[in-house]
Amino acid sequence: MSSEVLRDIVEKVNAAPDLGTALKIVVTDVKAVMTVDVCSVYLRDFERDEFVLMATDGLRKEAVGKVRMRSSQGLVGLVAERSEPVNLEEATGHPRYLFLAETGEERFHGFLGVPVLRHRRVIGVLVVRQRAMREFVEEEVDLLLTLAWRLADAIGHVETLSEVIALREEPSGGNRPLFGLGGAPGVATGKVLVVYPPADLDSVPERAPNHVGQEIAQFEQVVQTVRDEVAALGRDVGGRLGAEERALFDAYAAMVSSDSLVQGTIDRIRSGQWAPSALRDTVREHVAAFEAISDPYLRERASDVRDLGRLLLTHLQAGEKGQREYPRRTVLVGEEITAVQLAQVPPDRCVGVISAHGSGFSHVAILCRAMGIPAVMGVEDLPVGQLEGSEVVVDGYAGRVYVSPSRAILADFQELAREEAALSAELARDRHLPAETTDACQVSVFINAGLQAETVNLADSGAQGVGLYRTEFPFLVRDRFPGEEEQVRLYRQVLEVCHPATVTLRTLDVGGDKVLPYLPISEANPFLGWRGVRVTLDHPDIFMIQLRAMLRANAGLGNLQIMFPMISGVSELDQCLNLLARARRELIEEYGEVEPYQVGVMIEVPSAVYAIDRLAQRVDFISIGTNDLTQYLLAVDRNNERVAELYDHLHPSVLRAIEAIVDGAHRYGRTVSVCGEMAEDPVAVLMLIGLGVDKLSVSGASVARIKHVIRKANRRDAVELLEDMYGQDDAVTIRFLLSGAIEELGLGGLVRAGR
Ligand code: PEP
Ligand code: MG
Repeated sequence: MSSEVLRDIVEKVNAAPDLGTALKIVVTDVKAVMTVDVCSVYLRDFERDEFVLMATDGLRKEAVGKVRMRSSQGLVGLVAERSEPVNLEEATGHPRYLFLAETGEERFHGFLGVPVLRHRRVIGVLVVRQRAMREFVEEEVDLLLTLAWRLADAIGHVETLSEVIALREEPSGGNRPLFGLGGAPGVATGKVLVVYPPADLDSVPERAPNHVGQEIAQFEQVVQTVRDEVAALGRDVGGRLGAEERALFDAYAAMVSSDSLVQGTIDRIRSGQWAPSALRDTVREHVAAFEAISDPYLRERASDVRDLGRLLLTHLQAGEKGQREYPRRTVLVGEEITAVQLAQVPPDRCVGVISAHGSGFSHVAILCRAMGIPAVMGVEDLPVGQLEGSEVVVDGYAGRVYVSPSRAILADFQELAREEAALSAELARDRHLPAETTDACQVSVFINAGLQAETVNLADSGAQGVGLYRTEFPFLVRDRFPGEEEQVRLYRQVLEVCHPATVTLRTLDVGGDKVLPYLPISEANPFLGWRGVRVTLDHPDIFMIQLRAMLRANAGLGNLQIMFPMISGVSELDQCLNLLARARRELIEEYGEVEPYQVGVMIEVPSAVYAIDRLAQRVDFISIGTNDLTQYLLAVDRNNERVAELYDHLHPSVLRAIEAIVDGAHRYGRTVSVCGEMAEDPVAVLMLIGLGVDKLSVSGASVARIKHVIRKANRRDAVELLEDMYGQDDAVTIRFLLSGAIEELGLGGLVRAGR
């Protein structure tokens, strides 16, 4: 069997709009290419500890979704038990052979079953069977194993399987949650509003048109506009093209006028779809028709139809902007929600966020925390396209989502949300009390800012200053680098508002998941690539403007701290310090004087941990970026939901690294702050107090909670607890034990729903 065959199936599975279709593609194609009599997929329902027949080609179709067998039964159970392929030339004689009459089964002799594994758990079994005796060859076993890998990916989060089955049996959904990752704490109930990336037909959600006549008129208008555009383009470039290329252009123009594309879409609008999804389905139909043609030239036209579909959609979306109505309690749902989409919702309407991708450490989750909006990330099986307008419950602590919840669940969560609001109000009242442990240790609490164009409201927050001001935002939302004067204005505004409290401005940290639209960086490993000071050091022009702007903004104030991100060693820091000294010299020449300021370094790359002594000698303060330090120390991408279970800042090695940083910094009398998300994780705060961290910098929404934890904690107890934690092997155990400690302190309401 050729690798093209395999690639072909995998591509089709990748393009499948939903799990059901993906499973059907696998069983049909595998049966055909392996010339077997049956191919079936069984998925595991963990709640009932059973395997369920979810797709088959060869057995009775009616059995799908109905045939269930205990996980320990039959040859399917044997594959699961062994977690490896079972290949039997003559299966009927095997002691585990199970005859199921309801599948319309005859006696099949040849059997090959492979496990579908996810996170080391068998979540399904892929089986092929042959009437005659047949031992499958190695190449066939490999093919099936590869497809099982692919399937595991398509199936998504294991726990959602029972939900997939439940949704089939009782379409209302209800009491079973979809599982994701806690993105931002809190619970909320509200109505779904789906957001999707521009010009992407596949992610268009289902929605009914507000007014059929208007929807059709608007679509026809868009068709006319695109028709004119294509005609104009044809005229512009026509003279420069040969006859063959011109013919292509003419075909394109003909297609946009084609009745079937336009009329097909209008018919679908009439039957109750809004224009974007009517267009999507019509385009898909045409694409499938072209792809089925064996003539390679005509088959290629499928991509023209797709292109045209995208163009029409772009125009439809342009018309849609500004018309969106946000429900009073909007829960924003999307495949991958961006900070810009979040910023577009009126703040008083957004109560929750659910994203099919991303993790709790993605920048959008950080933004949700900053805004106090509960969020669940990485809900892989989220049927995004079908959720528009649904009632949902978001549990940002447990990372769960309930779609169309039963009345009982809804009432429970509404009660929890009320308790939560009462607790927050209580904590907020105490937010100005000192951040001091019961044995009188001071741990300063500062805020993180800059992730959006917010105005910093320090006086009201209860925080003592700004511990991390991310300067990327103005760079990300403009179509060019902001100039020196513009930056001076921006920074000065923050420094003035907070004066005399200190403000730590971090120099530009783009790259990774923050790409400037006007400086596209395409890399295989962006988090290991051109990021943070690596970018700014390579562009002293941009860097100098920013450093000068920071120093100028501090004129007459003196509350500025400058901090460098992503430092991996001493020479990088020295280069930054040299540029800063140059900026200072220039300004002294130009303005006569420069107000005093402090300089710090972020420790977020493991190599910097081992250089802490040398780094500490060169700066005034140290700030630990635990989001990146965890990512790089554990080699786990902070944005990748697939490995999110491995990402935990409570990993014993992260705790040891922080210990080394604090010791090194304190040896030289430097203060240490933590400005990553760890600083606002209540259980982690107990560890940070034990580790002797001087300062925590958290989102504005978390100041009151974190000060409350500090006031309830005792430094000596925290040191003892830390010693206990060092004896543990992994983050899961540490988190479990610390959650117990948090409950004992009466702080359980800070790590789970309710009080
Ligand atoms: C960090 O890495 O912990 C940090 C504070 O920086 P950012 O999240 O912006 O990368
Ligand atoms: Mg960082």
